[in-house]
Amino acid sequence: MLKTAVINLGCPKNEVDAEKLIYLLLKAGFQLLAEPDDAEIIIVNTCAFIQPAVEEAVNTILQMAAFKEDGACRLLVVAGCLPQRYGASLSREIPEIDLLFGTSDFHKIPAAIKNFSERHNSDKTVCEISLPHYSELHSVPQHITSPLAYSYLKIAEGCDNRCSYCMIPTIKGPQQSVPLETLILQARQMVAAGVQEVNLVAQDITAYGSDLAEKPQLTDLLNALISIPGLGRLRLLYAYPHRITPELIEMMARESIICNYIDIPIQHISDPILKSMARHDRGEHIRRIFESIKTQIPDLFLRSTVIVGFPGESEKNFRELLDFVAEGFFDYLGAFSYWPEEGSRAAKFPQQVPESLKEERLKAILDTQQGITERRLWAEVGRTRKVLIEGLSQESDLLLQGRTTFQAPEIDGVTYITEGDAEPGTIVDAEIQNCHEFDLFARIK
Ligand code: SF4
Repeated sequence: MLKTAVINLGCPKNEVDAEKLIYLLLKAGFQLLAEPDDAEIIIVNTCAFIQPAVEEAVNTILQMAAFKEDGACRLLVVAGCLPQRYGASLSREIPEIDLLFGTSDFHKIPAAIKNFSERHNSDKTVCEISLPHYSELHSVPQHITSPLAYSYLKIAEGCDNRCSYCMIPTIKGPQQSVPLETLILQARQMVAAGVQEVNLVAQDITAYGSDLAEKPQLTDLLNALISIPGLGRLRLLYAYPHRITPELIEMMARESIICNYIDIPIQHISDPILKSMARHDRGEHIRRIFESIKTQIPDLFLRSTVIVGFPGESEKNFRELLDFVAEGFFDYLGAFSYWPEEGSRAAKFPQQVPESLKEERLKAILDTQQGITERRLWAEVGRTRKVLIEGLSQESDLLLQGRTTFQAPEIDGVTYITEGDAEPGTIVDAEIQNCHEFDLFARIK
């Protein structure tokens, strides 16, 4: 059995690819190790949508290459967005790499490794980077790696939106949805494996099915998923404002299995900037969608993302965004200063904003939002909420840790259990007793 370690970088969508790869490796008889130290094969699944991610990927690859000198590593494999973006040139830049795979070539990895290791004397890097076509990968089950009773279900790959600052469509290709039956089967497999919370992810979940012959909608998929016995929760991540339909809002309000939580990145609110970003929405429409959601689901927690310092962003444009944030629609907000990504259209736009001004604007947005989020979480004290128990907390093994329906994994705070006991993977009623920054403290009722 070839001792193999998989190092995963990037977003939850990459995590799904890594879990599919692990499933295929185990099925092909590979032995999976948690750490690379004793691994004969090291596979790095990379992210490359923005330069800081590219740097992190290259640094990680070089760290793993060191195990070829003073470790057991015989083969270094690099997969995902970095090879898809830079192709075979990567092996010239980093000659320690033996095999390269694109974002839709993961299913080829086990056989290619076996072939390569049998002809070990070959010094030529094997390069399997095809045009993104995910149909084979879509149907591969995931080996659920998270012990914390939640998982990500990737419902589509690629993106048709083509925002002017974004390289993802160039890397991942056009939108390709997973057939509805395949997703239902995968969700059933997750529940059978003990998953209680399924997080739906894609570049844009609201575009689900638009590329499939039968044109299933996101609401059709949700209708199918909510009837899976044993499924505790469904969470919607990465929705696009202008595809939020009245049917979707109505369904979220009606179905308690769908978390009172949604992540809708807007990037900006000022029309000239939204237009320049090639976003499909305008400020007034975004406001109407948010008002409608908050009216129909008063208990909903809304997460979003904004970019400050986009080329041409005037003081007036920025003020519009800051005032919108101050209105308090967002319960959680990720804010970033614009990065002129090489290869994106916006990187060549005139009126690039000075870094110091970007930082100033970013701080103003984050300071404004922090107060809003803390007030929203403090309002939870005294309320009884459903908490998914994940196990002992990383902070102290005297405390159990879990998440409410309005705390997404790996991005929002957690809930520490100060009183009561429960098995990991169970959902309990807990009274919120305290709040610290973005974390809550509760006692099981
Ligand atoms: S919606 Fe826009 S920002 Fe998001 S992946 Fe697609 S092109 Fe990129």
